[in-house]
Amino acid sequence: MGHTISLPASPANSQPALRRHPTRPLMLLEPECTPVIRPAHAPTRLAPVLSMRSALLEWFRPRRFAYPWRSDPPDPYRVLVSEVMLQQTQAARVAPAFSAFVSQFPTVQSLAAASKAEVLRTWSGLGYNRRAVALHDAARLVMRDHDGTIPSDPEVLVRLPGIGPYTAAAVASIGFGLAVPALDSNARRVVCRAVLGVEPSVVPNRIVEETAGDWLDRADPATWNQAVMDLGREACRTTPRCDRCPLRHGCRFVGERPAKRRARQPRFEGSMRQVRGAVMRAVLDRSPATIAQLGKVTGFAADRIGAAVNGLCRDGLVSATRGALAGNPAGRVRLPE
Ligand code: SF4
Repeated sequence: MGHTISLPASPANSQPALRRHPTRPLMLLEPECTPVIRPAHAPTRLAPVLSMRSALLEWFRPRRFAYPWRSDPPDPYRVLVSEVMLQQTQAARVAPAFSAFVSQFPTVQSLAAASKAEVLRTWSGLGYNRRAVALHDAARLVMRDHDGTIPSDPEVLVRLPGIGPYTAAAVASIGFGLAVPALDSNARRVVCRAVLGVEPSVVPNRIVEETAGDWLDRADPATWNQAVMDLGREACRTTPRCDRCPLRHGCRFVGERPAKRRARQPRFEGSMRQVRGAVMRAVLDRSPATIAQLGKVTGFAADRIGAAVNGLCRDGLVSATRGALAGNPAGRVRLPE
């Protein structure tokens, strides 16, 4: 039996209501997909969900092995590494870094046995080094608590360091074929636009998740999730490229104007982020190093380097003497063991 998901009908004192598309009625999924997604009193019709699904899968077919972490059968460890890398880095940049990383650490066992310093050195260049520390900690916990086998249950995965609900769902579905939707920002955009006809910013999370779950291809959730994410990355970007999108004939957002772009990021030049990055690179090149040496290499003053070292220490990316934490020129900083 299908069920109706009632969406907010009024913008008053609640989330903004879903806008009605001027020409397209809201989507009613076909019986085998079971759900009905429409606000109360909305006119309904069968939308071409199955043809949209096959169009998307057809579009995805040549991309299926486009990245080095995609394999048949999938390797959950490689899926985990790739998903952690993809959290804050574009796929094109991740691809070479991923290959280098898994060639150095081909299994969860080898990753867990490595030192933090080795892991950080192999990760260097990808940035957001905290991800490397968390991944390494996760590998050690997998060895300690799960007999060296990556767990398949998203509820268990999410308890590992550095793994949030999205990464857990991606590993469960792509690595193990579990029927859970993996909603990164790209997939969220596709689901909201194509099925609900609105931008994700106006839809409550619960509705997005239910909609994605209803739309999921339960016969092959791994392929489906990757196809939806790829579509968001390639066609359904912030500014959508509907003319090259396989969903354009059924999508409820086609022809709509996208939401305004987010505000620019704060300036990088002179920021603590820049100092941290420079200090981390210097320590990766030469460990241990004194604050004075780091000042010479990076060109930043000792007090700023001291502040950066404090932050890096808190994140487990370096270890430092008390003097270094106080910005003392003779204080020493090193990579963690
Ligand atoms: S048709 Fe346009 S808005 Fe709809 S999913 Fe494709 S790119 Fe996104």
